[in-house]
Amino acid sequence: MSQQVTILGSTGSIGVSSLDVISRHPEDFKIFALTANVAYQTLADQCAKYNPSYAVVMKQNIAQKLTSVLRSKGCNTQVLCGAEDLNLVAQESTVDIVIAGIVGSIGLRSTMAAVESGKKVLLANKESLVMAGRLFKQAVLRSGCTLLPIDSEHNAIFQCLSDNRQSVNETITKLTLPASGGPFRGWQAKQMRDVTPDEACAHPNWKMGRKISVDSATLMNKGLEVIEASFLFEMPADSIEVLIHPQSIVHAFVHYTDGSTLAHLGVPDMRVPIAHALAWPKRIKSGVKTLDLSVVSDLEFSLPDHKNFPCLQTAYDALTSGGDATTILNAANETAVDAFLNSRIKFTQISEIVRDTLTNSIFSPIDTIEEVEESDARARILSSKLIKAAVK
Ligand code: MG
Repeated sequence: MSQQVTILGSTGSIGVSSLDVISRHPEDFKIFALTANVAYQTLADQCAKYNPSYAVVMKQNIAQKLTSVLRSKGCNTQVLCGAEDLNLVAQESTVDIVIAGIVGSIGLRSTMAAVESGKKVLLANKESLVMAGRLFKQAVLRSGCTLLPIDSEHNAIFQCLSDNRQSVNETITKLTLPASGGPFRGWQAKQMRDVTPDEACAHPNWKMGRKISVDSATLMNKGLEVIEASFLFEMPADSIEVLIHPQSIVHAFVHYTDGSTLAHLGVPDMRVPIAHALAWPKRIKSGVKTLDLSVVSDLEFSLPDHKNFPCLQTAYDALTSGGDATTILNAANETAVDAFLNSRIKFTQISEIVRDTLTNSIFSPIDTIEEVEESDARARILSSKLIKAAVK
């Protein structure tokens, strides 16, 4: 029997890689629903190819455009619209697997909906854990959902846990997350002052969307991943280490109490973690070639440069502060990155806006998703004010 799959965010890089893997196994997986924000032409092409029951977009005018393109292609996929319908295709009883590939805080509700309905959830939306880590993990335990990380580092950690458990135990002393260092590795802050959004998005190893590419360039992506790993594997901040590894061949190290260190290696391609999680506990072909270490030859590791890339330490500090500090961190970062991508602030101001938003916030405990969203909204208002003041 084939499994029914919903992809939240099918036109982004996670969605496209997921469809590539799924298309190699037509007997095992069928697409139930595909969703996108505004990229209706790409979504229409995907619908024509994979023939899902539903396609969901977020705006009414986009839904109308999508419907007319689908009809012209003779595709019977039904078009739905809005946040409630997005939750619906994540929860629908016939769905077995939900791939949470939406980038940013807008992916929180639909990812939670999939978790709460006990699906097998392939998690790429790291913001769900950064914004609402404890609540998210509680929902996973309550619903019995199978949560499989497909962020490459977290999937690699999961693969290095000897018993494939979703949390670590006292036999594990440390987790190491490698970071490529992004396009500005080795640069001084003053050299980065005037870089353009296109330069910041030119990642040396991974092809990704613009928001996450900027996060990689500031090292905030690694900061968010430290927080993600902390909640996912229940490890304290001081047991999670980041190393700069420019080749992006090793995706994680797990260190055990007996002195053993397990590593996960592979060509940097998101289809590897996606295929692993789709088939888990089995293995299937991903379309990615086997790593040839004789070609790689050098694997380098070094400590991150906190002075010139301050976002990483800010993320560690937010994690240690607890409460809604990581929610505020994420909201401030999304606001600042958006302002940078729209050429309103300089690259080096991203870290300043995030730090100042946290410094000017009072942290409070989080007990409900509504409180998460309130904290997120407050932090966006504050960081927008700080951006306005900075560009005056
Ligand atoms: Mg990653």
